[in-house]
Amino acid sequence: MAKKCFFPAFFFWLVIMSACTGDKTVRSLFDGENINQWNTQGSVKLENRILTLEDDASIILKKGDFKDFELQLSARMVNNGKGFVAFHTDKTGEGGYRIALNNDLETPQWWTKTGSLLGVRNLTKSVVKNNEWFDMTIRVEGKTIAVKLNNHQVVDYTEPVAPYRTSEHADQLLSHGNVCIKNTGGGVLEFKTITISPVDISTLDIAQQQRDNALDETTDEIIRLHQANFPVLDYHVHLKGGLTRELAAEQSRKYGINYAVAPNCGIGFPITNDEQVVAYLDSMKGWPFVHAMQGEGREWFTTFSKEVRDKFDFVFTDAMTFTDNKGRRTRLWIPEEVSIEDEQQYMDLIVQKICEVMKEPMDVYVNPLFLPDQMNDRYDFFWTEERMDKVIESMVVNKKALEINNRYQIPHKVFIEKAKNAGLKFTFGTNNAEADFGKLEYCIQMMKECGITAEDMFKPNIKE
Ligand SMILES: [Zn+2]
Repeated sequence: MAKKCFFPAFFFWLVIMSACTGDKTVRSLFDGENINQWNTQGSVKLENRILTLEDDASIILKKGDFKDFELQLSARMVNNGKGFVAFHTDKTGEGGYRIALNNDLETPQWWTKTGSLLGVRNLTKSVVKNNEWFDMTIRVEGKTIAVKLNNHQVVDYTEPVAPYRTSEHADQLLSHGNVCIKNTGGGVLEFKTITISPVDISTLDIAQQQRDNALDETTDEIIRLHQANFPVLDYHVHLKGGLTRELAAEQSRKYGINYAVAPNCGIGFPITNDEQVVAYLDSMKGWPFVHAMQGEGREWFTTFSKEVRDKFDFVFTDAMTFTDNKGRRTRLWIPEEVSIEDEQQYMDLIVQKICEVMKEPMDVYVNPLFLPDQMNDRYDFFWTEERMDKVIESMVVNKKALEINNRYQIPHKVFIEKAKNAGLKFTFGTNNAEADFGKLEYCIQMMKECGITAEDMFKPNIKE
């Protein structure tokens, strides 16, 4: 008898418990049935269980006040739909933080792709595609904001005690508040499901969380670039010196700097043929990096087909490898390979080789104006106006962008000013030898001193 009673009672208890925890843990904000929980503005439709926002439509919860939570959306952008999901907003959807929805590869502002914590951690590469459904998770836990796309983490930001915000973005701060979704024009935003669950932070030590994870934004230059809507991309990163894809992605999230990762491609380098390029790019699918190719040696563009080179988001090369006048292979960074008889003649040779390299089918001239150790101590002496003008002219004619190189701190300011006056585009690149390689310090200094703007930056031809 007792046994018979036990099971119904047990199941009854189970049903009650799951109903309770269900209410507490996951709240459905949209499940395909209706949009009764939302105030809508503009062209908002519910068709075939899909919520659609067109033009400049927006939705905001009628009742919503969330502090620590996990917001999950199943979303899709159609016809280059663009917009954002905002949280911690006021009753009208203003204030708080915005997470970008934007896979449009053609938009002039190419650095605020899906998953960007706008103005704070802008992303240059979307790991999800136009016209394809994806899952987005936005989690706020104490002072940390994490964004995942299809379960890949793309943002990991901890708000410090003293966040840096411009007056325009003064209300980009964690507090508590509503959830709002807005289409910012052109294309369509679609949603299949939206849910939110509270996150329990009763055992979280927020001061400790900030000490462990937040950057000091009273001095951090990177947050200043994001706040000024300047693209934050290190265009020249190599997976070497212990830097793995995993470490690179983690470091990129930590510093808030996007990375263009480039394999060295050429005879005697890790990638020597088309098949290896294809295999490499396959292995990098789904990672949040811009994909660049570094052409090595002077025959690289014949070693790799145009079709394969075009698979990269951009291609760069330097002029540090050439054959000198006596037929000797020269790599300028290796002192034993640099045989100088007459320094001025050697300098003319370097300029001539640079101008030849500018004719190669690449986008960006990197490690620019590099001089060998034997001559580098008299950099300004060798780089005369005439020589600089020759290089600039050759870059203009061949439509090349100029790297400002962080590792070698080249080129010098006078050349960067000439390049800017000539209308050349720029990249900021490290060319790291190690896993931990700083935060574009020299590039940012030159950006400030030479007045380089977002429009002056080279736009990679980023592929899906
Ligand atoms: Zn390199």
